[in-house]
Amino acid sequence: MDPTISKKAEELRNDLREYQKAYYVDSRPLVSDMEYDRKFDELSALERQYPELSDPNSPTSRVGSDLSSDFPEFHHTVPVLSLDKAYSSDAVLSWIEKSEDKADHNLSFVVEEKIDGISMVLYYEKGLLVRAVTRGNGFIGNEVTSNIRTMPSVPLKLSEPVDIVVRGEVYLPKNDFLAINKTLDEPYANPRNLAAGAVRRIKSSEAAQVPLSIFCYEGFTDTIQFSDHIQILSYLKHLGFRIDPNIGYFCKTEAEARKRLSETGLDLVCGSFDDIPMYIKTKTQGRKALAYEIDGLVCKINEIAVREAFGYTGHHPRWAIAYKFEAPQAQTIVMGIDVQVGRTGRITPVARVKPVALGGSTIANITLHNQDYVDELELAIGDTVAISKRGDVIPAVESVVEKNEDGNTTWVMPAVCPSCGTELVKNGAHHFCPNYDCPMQAKGRISFFAAKGQMDIEGLGPETVTYLYDNGYVRSIEDLFDFDFSILNGLHGFGDKKVQSLSASMAATRKTPFRQVLTALGLPEFGRKAVDCLCSGGLDTMDKILDIADRDDVDSLMKINQIGEKSARLLIDGLNSLHMRSLIAKLRASGLQMEDSNDAEGLSQIFAGQSWCITGSFDSFSSRDLITKIITDRGGKAVSAVSAKTTVLLAGHNAGSKLAKAAELGTKVMDEDEFLKIIGKTEEKPEPEGDGSGQMELF
Ligand code: NAD
Repeated sequence: MDPTISKKAEELRNDLREYQKAYYVDSRPLVSDMEYDRKFDELSALERQYPELSDPNSPTSRVGSDLSSDFPEFHHTVPVLSLDKAYSSDAVLSWIEKSEDKADHNLSFVVEEKIDGISMVLYYEKGLLVRAVTRGNGFIGNEVTSNIRTMPSVPLKLSEPVDIVVRGEVYLPKNDFLAINKTLDEPYANPRNLAAGAVRRIKSSEAAQVPLSIFCYEGFTDTIQFSDHIQILSYLKHLGFRIDPNIGYFCKTEAEARKRLSETGLDLVCGSFDDIPMYIKTKTQGRKALAYEIDGLVCKINEIAVREAFGYTGHHPRWAIAYKFEAPQAQTIVMGIDVQVGRTGRITPVARVKPVALGGSTIANITLHNQDYVDELELAIGDTVAISKRGDVIPAVESVVEKNEDGNTTWVMPAVCPSCGTELVKNGAHHFCPNYDCPMQAKGRISFFAAKGQMDIEGLGPETVTYLYDNGYVRSIEDLFDFDFSILNGLHGFGDKKVQSLSASMAATRKTPFRQVLTALGLPEFGRKAVDCLCSGGLDTMDKILDIADRDDVDSLMKINQIGEKSARLLIDGLNSLHMRSLIAKLRASGLQMEDSNDAEGLSQIFAGQSWCITGSFDSFSSRDLITKIITDRGGKAVSAVSAKTTVLLAGHNAGSKLAKAAELGTKVMDEDEFLKIIGKTEEKPEPEGDGSGQMELF
């Protein structure tokens, strides 16, 4: 191994240890959490790549220690660890999916607020508080019992004489923090640090002056055999502990979640897994309004037996994951800028950066969108840049932090297409290659047509498409329907199995639903959502759509919700191009679906047993009848008023008093976006590229 790598790892470990001491022990952090997380991720990535670097004492293998010599030490009976992290709701959902696969049966999940405070472990014997211990190094903590005893929200005597270990987060409400902090000579950076300082006061009379509070979230006792986490929460509440009321409980179906919750008597938000992204979104947006700080959410497996089976790493439990609100940032160097040609001819500059670990993955390429974006950043090759994961998923260059020393000036788009040499043209913010026969565009069109969510042609990924194109076998989507895939047998890794699967997938395209076929055409700005609008709005056959295009009937298109003038124009122009007409003719001749079957049969009954109330106006549906049909086709029923029996209030724009009623009854409220996502869940797909204006009129 290159010695610079082990040196780098050692530097990172030393930095992290120094930051941990400042953060956990002195309550005066030296760097931001983002910077800490970035170095932590970088070290984890190095240790993963070079297992010989592994060290049981690395900060990645153990929790940051807040042990101090000012207080007696106590060995925890159950380790108190850190949490694994995710930075997007997709990552949380993927963790849920993996956990279910690993457990090999249905699980349920609890999503709790991640209170930004100090971990505290409360030990009770025969119902009496005997000890309060900090997390320490996860195995040994400091006893701070007399300070914690001063907190009114920590019960000194429980409602039952049980032996129990309870874990919670001690925090300082935001208003109290502001009031106290302004009286201090050396103010604290945030409520967490002030609370941590108060918990470690030598004199408990001083600790008592800080109005600390606690939310408890775990309990361990041998007295009762708990089957799940919500049962534990319910028991903790019964014993007299303060439980965060803002907790969500999610099962495969909402009905299941409701049933299980009613058994525990807890009054929590509940829903199906599909509701989790909206829950995360709502919590993320609403966190500022809370009286206390949260720095994320914690998603936990509810079933205790599964938790025990999954166990722990030295750093975190395998049965929980923290969703962190702030996306981590990193710095790296731009090694080069490549230009990619999309299937619509749009040219996208992509920065090739020195690979860097960020939020759990290694980033090597980052889109720069267009020349304007590059100009705004004044970005040149060789510059050192700050990058982040926007929306927690997509890496983005945020700023130039240091200019290159090679004299490189701001990058400029080449004059000609890198694929076919045609002179580029500018339309709006983007550059385009105007040559329809440009090889990169043709390959892009075929790949998009074949991709999952469009025609789902198994085995026809971009690599295979490139091989077929470069070797002259397939030059267009139309060619796919005339090509005899069996001649590939034995060539370039094409075995019997792959050839058969390709031929079978091609044959199966005849059964692909019309909406997918229409999306697969790749009309500009015409992704699945827009296709759904069109079909729901009555334009549900290819003939009806082409008729509108033949008559250049922009007005009729604009009567369909969400289709504005610009989108209508683009759609008609796209449909009237000779290339598109010849493609549609070929697909029709090849027997592909040209009508929306609109067949409720076979639809998954995801709303079975649910009652939905619809209020307000919607962008994607011209009438509420259309929504009612979607709900009833999927097993639900529509009701006109919100009552205790209503499962969901679907609220569009200008929703009125029904919202208040739903809030009063605790009825789940869903917005249009979430509804579209749920009904399109099995059919979600990427939107096709835009027209180059960078503006989307549809949705
Ligand atoms: P963590 O982010 O891994 O979270 C684990 C902790 O979350 C638990 O110990 C518990 O105290 C708390 N928590 C709050 N609500 C909870 C709930 N409902 N369920 C379970 N746990 C809950 O915490 P960590 O291991 O203490 O620290 C890691 C994080 O701390 C880093 O990601 C970083 O953001 C920050 N940090 C910053 C610095 C710095 O110098 N700025 C240094 C060290 C750590």
